Amino acid sequence: MTEEIKLTKIAVVRCETVSESCPGTGCFAAFNGKMASFADYGVNAQMVAYFTCGGCSGRRVANLIGEIKKVEPDAIHLSTCMVKSSACPNLVYIKGVFEEAGIKVVEGTH
Ligand code: SF4
Repeated sequence: MTEEIKLTKIAVVRCETVSESCPGTGCFAAFNGKMASFADYGVNAQMVAYFTCGGCSGRRVANLIGEIKKVEPDAIHLSTCMVKSSACPNLVYIKGVFEEAGIKVVEGTH
């Protein structure tokens, strides 16, 4: 009998504005190497969603929350460009959408 492997499902939301100049390489390098904000995850962690906020005011987050809930992520990370570099003015709102949906929010990616 095959033993079922428990996956840790991770999603990332990132800044639409910053995505014009960043292809997400820092986020993926950190995730694939299980470094920085992903350091506590094991080999069974998988990236199940990676998307941008849709621009100020972060409207896409509310549009996508239904689809994101369907994949039942264990956590959603707010990209480092949102929480550190650009000081997103809509961070509280964006965080709140996920928290109201019962999804654990982690600030930072790499
Ligand atoms: S809402 Fe925040 S994360 Fe989204 S584009 Fe504006 S500053 Fe960037």
